[in-house]
Amino acid sequence: MKTIGLIGGMSWESSREYYRYLNEMVKEKLGEPHSCSCILYSLDFAEIKELQHRGSWQQLAAKMVEAARKLEQAGAGLILICANTMHKLAPEVEKSLQVPLVHIADAAAAEIKNLKLNRVGLLGTRFTMEEDFYRKRLEKKHGMEIIVPEKAEREEIHSIIYQELISGIIKKSSRNKLLRIIEDLPEVEGVILGCTELPLLLEEDDLEIPLFDTMKLHAGQAVKLALKQDAAQAWDY
Ligand code: GLU
Repeated sequence: MKTIGLIGGMSWESSREYYRYLNEMVKEKLGEPHSCSCILYSLDFAEIKELQHRGSWQQLAAKMVEAARKLEQAGAGLILICANTMHKLAPEVEKSLQVPLVHIADAAAAEIKNLKLNRVGLLGTRFTMEEDFYRKRLEKKHGMEIIVPEKAEREEIHSIIYQELISGIIKKSSRNKLLRIIEDLPEVEGVILGCTELPLLLEEDDLEIPLFDTMKLHAGQAVKLALKQDAAQAWDY
């Protein structure tokens, strides 16, 4: 099993869930008492949040590259950035590494293609919903049609993430807001939870259409790659 390097703490509420998924998935594949070989480099989210909202992406890139390199030096055989938003810096991180960076949008796209869907909604932070780094990857690399909510609704989601979910605050009213926003997305066949905190609020069973939990799919992809050489069969996460 390759060791998985996690750049986490963005926020720790979701990193904890990554850790749980990785261990559960390895146990499911290899049986008890197996668990996931991994290293977590957990950042202080207060600094990350401030730099994001100031638009200091170069400083953030330096932080991500430093964390990724340290994980590689410590023996990680593949790296995960445990957040969708920070994939804005995936190209810089990828360039600095000898080992693979598993891209969260590719993990989501693989599952969407498995289900033969094409027109999907995307919820996440303002950065993820509005900028090119995530949407365009899904549209250009994976040929998908990506629908995002209207501006006012995007602001609502952004604020639920940064004011509540990153601090572990779970409100029924916010959950209902998200469900209403999803209902308003025109003719989508599924919805990408493109923020690793959103699964704290919404579950796959909450909707009639498929909900793509990027955190779970990302963890699944990482486990698949980490166990590849050990595999006597093809893994199907
Ligand atoms: N974890 C979040 C994401 O998946 C948001 C926090 C962040 O800005 O990194 O985008």
